[in-house]
Amino acid sequence: MTILSTTDLTKTYGGITANAGIDFELPEGRIMALIGPNGAGKSTFVGMLSGRIEATRGTVFFDGQDVSRLPAHKRIALGIAYTFQITSVFAGLSVHENVALAARRRLGRDAKAVNAKVADVLDRVGLSSLANQIAGTLSYGHQRILEIAMGLAQDPRLFILDEPTQGLAESEIQDFITLIKSLADTITILLIEHNMDVVMATADLITVLDAGEVLARGTPDEIRDNPAVQAAYLGTDDAEG
Ligand code: ATP
Repeated sequence: MTILSTTDLTKTYGGITANAGIDFELPEGRIMALIGPNGAGKSTFVGMLSGRIEATRGTVFFDGQDVSRLPAHKRIALGIAYTFQITSVFAGLSVHENVALAARRRLGRDAKAVNAKVADVLDRVGLSSLANQIAGTLSYGHQRILEIAMGLAQDPRLFILDEPTQGLAESEIQDFITLIKSLADTITILLIEHNMDVVMATADLITVLDAGEVLARGTPDEIRDNPAVQAAYLGTDDAEG
C-alpha cells in the first residue's frame, strides 16, 4: 500500500523553480532515501510534504487523504512527523522533559500516558539511562538521537528525517544506521541523506532529485548502476566502480 504520494508537486520562488511537477509514491513500511546534489530541491519537497512550505501547484496524499491544504500541525496529528536539519532540542530541559513535550502534542495532558510514551520511546532509541540528563550537556550524537525520540513520541506513521547523520562522528553513524533500520519495523521512513554509506545501508528505495525534478527512482542497486545518476550525482569514482 502507498502511504504517501504526490502528483505534479511544484514550488516556484519568483523565477526559481525549486520543485517542478514531482510525482512520487512511498510504499508503507519501507525506508525511502531522497538524495540529490545541493539545491536539488529536497528540503523544498519535504517542506511541502510536512506543510511547512506551501505548494505552488500539485497535491499531497497521505493515507488516502488529500492533505495538500492542511497546516503542518494537522498533518502531524494525522501521523507525519519530521526532524529538521537544525536541532529542535530544548537545551535547558532534561531528556525526559524534551520527549514529554513532544508526546503531549499528541497525547495532551494525560500524564500517565505521556510518561509511558516517554519511557517506551527512550527505551526504543537507547536513551533510557540518560533520561534525567540536561539535553544541552549531551554529546552531539545523543542530541540527534533525542530528536528522533521526540519525533517518535508523536507516534508517526511516516517519519521524515532531514539529514539525521549530519555532523556525526563515524562511530556514531553506525549506531544511527542500526537505529533507523529498527524504526522501519513499524514506521515508514523518508530519509534525506548526503552520506551515501548511510543511504546504501538503510534504504529499500531511493529517489534522486536533480534541479527540482525526479532524475531516477529504484532500489539501491538500480540507482548505483544508473548512468544518469552517476553523471549527475555520484561522481566518477562510483561510475568506474
Ligand atoms: P541542500 O541539500 O543544499 O539542502 P536541497 O536539495 O534541499 O539543497 P532546496 O533547499 O530545496 O534544495 O532548494 C532548491 C532550490 O530552491 C535552490 O535553488 C534554492 O536556492 C531555492 N530556494 C529554496 N528556498 C528558497 C526561498 N525561500 N527563496 C528563494 N529560493 C529558494
